[in-house]
Amino acid sequence: MDGKVGARSIVPLLNRRNDENGTFYKTIKIGGRVMEAPEYDLFIAGGGPAGLTAGLYAARGKLRTLLIEKMAPGGQAASTFLIENYPGFPEGIPGPDLAQAMEKQAKRFGLEVVSGEVNHLVAKGNHWEVGWEGQKVTTKAVIVATGVEPIKLGVPGEEELKGRGVSYCATCDGPFFRDQDIGVIGGGDSAVDEALFLTRFARRVYIIHRRNALRAEKILQDRAFQNEKIEILWDTVVAKVSGKTGVEGLELKNVQTQETRTLPVNGVFFYVGLKPITEFLGGAVKLDERGYVITDVNMATSAQGIFAAGDVRQKLLRQVATAVGDGATAAFAAERYLESLSQ
Ligand code: NAP
Repeated sequence: MDGKVGARSIVPLLNRRNDENGTFYKTIKIGGRVMEAPEYDLFIAGGGPAGLTAGLYAARGKLRTLLIEKMAPGGQAASTFLIENYPGFPEGIPGPDLAQAMEKQAKRFGLEVVSGEVNHLVAKGNHWEVGWEGQKVTTKAVIVATGVEPIKLGVPGEEELKGRGVSYCATCDGPFFRDQDIGVIGGGDSAVDEALFLTRFARRVYIIHRRNALRAEKILQDRAFQNEKIEILWDTVVAKVSGKTGVEGLELKNVQTQETRTLPVNGVFFYVGLKPITEFLGGAVKLDERGYVITDVNMATSAQGIFAAGDVRQKLLRQVATAVGDGATAAFAAERYLESLSQ
């Protein structure tokens, strides 16, 4: 069989699976050519805490499971400096450490992990065909655990100066702003948590919030109020990020007084909310009005064989602790679903 797909090949994947686990294959078309693709019991889109937990449960339950992750495993949690509210770690645990441990644990039971971004999901009878970057597999069940991504505010200068002072990840970029002044936009958990983290490096951190009360949880608010490096600019919105080759300042407007002013800063971190990553689903499952996947209590979506877990689904609380519960439930529900197919 010739398995070449553009510059890439799915042959190594087929061979490896065949040698170790005796994978089944299904004939599919890629780029107009008929070929065989590996057939999995379960495909997990997303390698954050929800996806990795689903992977652990599924692989341990002996399901042939493939997980795809577009960045490093761990999702949003992996870019969190210290996770303080995940039980079992009294001193907290760095996000990357928790992510690596979760991945190692799941792989120990045979979870396969590939790097890539899913862009294709199509029903084929009672199977699903899933694709990414020229590769395709078929699977009997899918768990959507793709999580969320930062919302862009869309003000002038934001896109132009991205990576040159405009950032969405304090853990990644905070150390570049040692002894400098930084703006953090937003008033939720992310904004306040990351502003607190940024005080490790920055000289001054301005939290710029559009109203006069923070949305963040009380413990974070208290820490921010007590931190001498943090100043909160209430009732204030950003009209523009200014600078030529890097961020030089923020043009601000007070929404109560309509006063405008320029705040000199060297960097700005946007935390104005998150949006679910669901585009690849192409309408296959029902979403709510904000784009989150609607599931029942067992993580089943509106489409047969597709389950969702973690931040991507409609739910009250988006935390690592709730994501892992979702992941475990989704894997168990998927297993039940697969049993029902074989009866
Ligand atoms: P969020 O809770 O949706 O907060 C977004 C913030 O941005 C809000 O304060 C909002 O203002 C502000 N905002 C939204 N649109 C804006 C606009 N156009 N202009 C100016 N400001 C705007 O998002 P998040 O903070 O990223 O949190 C998302 C989820 O992750 C939450 O469930 C949160 O609990 C969780 N999370 C938890 C932790 C933790 O436990 N430590 C850390 C990070 C995230 P308003 O308040 O006026 O709406």
